[in-house]
Amino acid sequence: MPGVWRHSPIIMIILLSLVSLDTRYAAWPRGSVRTAPKAVPSKCDRSKFKLILDVGHTADAPGARSARNIPEFDFNLRLAKRIEDKLKSEGFAQTSLLVTEGPKRPSLFKRATAINNSGADLVLSIHHDSVPDSFLEEWEFEGTKSHFSDRFSGYSLFVSHDNPKFWTSLRFARLLGNRMKAQGLQYARQYALALMGRYRRKLLDKKVGVYRYDQLVVLMRTRVPAVLLEAGSIINRDEELAMASTERQDMIGAAVVGAVKEFCASR
Ligand SMILES: [Zn+2]
Repeated sequence: MPGVWRHSPIIMIILLSLVSLDTRYAAWPRGSVRTAPKAVPSKCDRSKFKLILDVGHTADAPGARSARNIPEFDFNLRLAKRIEDKLKSEGFAQTSLLVTEGPKRPSLFKRATAINNSGADLVLSIHHDSVPDSFLEEWEFEGTKSHFSDRFSGYSLFVSHDNPKFWTSLRFARLLGNRMKAQGLQYARQYALALMGRYRRKLLDKKVGVYRYDQLVVLMRTRVPAVLLEAGSIINRDEELAMASTERQDMIGAAVVGAVKEFCASR
């Protein structure tokens, strides 16, 4: 029906734009080798990069208890401070610690609000690991009945799919996992096992130990890239001693600094 073409300017416009598209593709050199992009100077301005180190738990609700009865919060605070010092000495002047107070649940929402109002580029939440109660064994430490489990050890990294910056969070988690591995540290494998029951998580990166944990408030409620690091197990008697040492804290600090540098440069 040729009459349709004659009387339809819209169809003519579509046809003309198809022709011009075709011409543009014809001009594209097929199979040509693209030259490598010129080196772009790093966009990372360390003095402006805003990193929050979230100290897990509070003095009132201190999280896990170590094999030698030291609260997890003490370990978290000490390690976070050491990482903060290292980052600042490397020029990341806007690194800050987020220490919250009060009972567990409200403190979680308080920290998410503080993070969202901060304009941060990245959040790393610092924790130390334990085991489900059913794995605990008894021993006596300095005359006090205490609990331990030497069954598992290692660090682990968690990201939440409910964080709107999930992919960026995962990218940073992988960078950090790579650096932890390069320090000779092993990740905790048990989270992928059925024996963990409701604590079982999906392993997203089996080379460097990144797990998916959607419901963690500090990850799911924040609108900036956020990763939670379980730096090591303090219910494991040997690893507790390692985590208390400045050597181990410096290894983890070096891993974080390396990963933050890479993350900042690659944004
Ligand atoms: Zn914790």
